[in-house]
Amino acid sequence: MADTDEKPTFIADAMLGRLARALRMLGLDTQYRPDIDDSELKMVALREGRVILTRDHEVADTGLPITVLLIESDHVEDQLLQTARAFHISPGGGLFSRCLICNVEVEDAPPSEVRERVPEYVFATQSRFSRCPSCGRVYWAATHVEHAREWLERVLGSGGGVGRARVRWEGARGRGRGRRRTRTSGKTGRRTVTTLRKNLFVTGRPGIGKTTLIERVLGALDVDAGGFYTSEVLDGDRRVGFSIIGLHGDSGVLAHVDHEGSFRVGKYGVNCEDLERVGVRAVDQALKHSKIVVMDEIGRMELCSTAFQEAVGRALDSPKPVLGTIQDRTNPFLDSVRARPDVEILRVNTGNRECLVPVLRDRILELLGE
Ligand SMILES: [Zn+2]
Repeated sequence: MADTDEKPTFIADAMLGRLARALRMLGLDTQYRPDIDDSELKMVALREGRVILTRDHEVADTGLPITVLLIESDHVEDQLLQTARAFHISPGGGLFSRCLICNVEVEDAPPSEVRERVPEYVFATQSRFSRCPSCGRVYWAATHVEHAREWLERVLGSGGGVGRARVRWEGARGRGRGRRRTRTSGKTGRRTVTTLRKNLFVTGRPGIGKTTLIERVLGALDVDAGGFYTSEVLDGDRRVGFSIIGLHGDSGVLAHVDHEGSFRVGKYGVNCEDLERVGVRAVDQALKHSKIVVMDEIGRMELCSTAFQEAVGRALDSPKPVLGTIQDRTNPFLDSVRARPDVEILRVNTGNRECLVPVLRDRILELLGE
């Protein structure tokens, strides 16, 4: 499904009304017919080449040449993220091009024709309107549209580009109707082709919960992880430095206000010896003995040690999944990490940090072949 400008079309089962609405906001043709039963749902999908979105395992086992995405979560944000990742969907030009009620593409409508149907102040302040040719509903730009756009961008903010696709391709047939439906028919046994980038980094503003996210993913995984994390050193409630802690025991001082070193970041003197003694060693031990390499975090302080940067490189080059955090800054080292084709950066924000836990867990399980 990658690299095609053809957009998928969907039919959502009765439990997925909010997901259907969200996909329609994105301009995606999504049928939602809670009145029909499972067999009719499958027939519509088969006839029109639609992907079935369902929470029901039994629906997923169709035995028919239908593509089914088994939706894993009860939360619409997770559902949308899962769908977006499976089908490489990102908020694009199609936003709000479809009636949220009828799923029909809206048309531009001259103001004179919608005057009766919109409040007076809206008519006075808006110049562009669109209208659903099916139900006649009139749409215009307004605050709630802006909020919906922000919500979509927040949920999909981690980038819909590459993702696991737990999709069953059973011969993606699609001789559908409509001008968008140009997919070739008759192919059987088509498989998903997804590239799983194995080096996963989260980024985001300080305090957003990146380390907590990593901890929760590790907690959800229950597989042996090595590597290191960093943690604040507090004096009362004042931050005076950072410690570096190996997942298997070692620890040291990464930076401290009282550390006398020539390499300084802000008010902190960076302790390159401990960075190498703990950090480099933890990474190399993880490469030897663990299933996952954790690096939380890589940032400016790590610039002081070439040995450390080389250890990061070894981890990224290795076949093992890397789960890390990376500072949201520009410098040659961080830029070179981000530029690697096997690195995926996920931006954490308050809107997506909850749904990233299962996403990252599943990605790593898939990378581990479990
Ligand atoms: Zn409509």
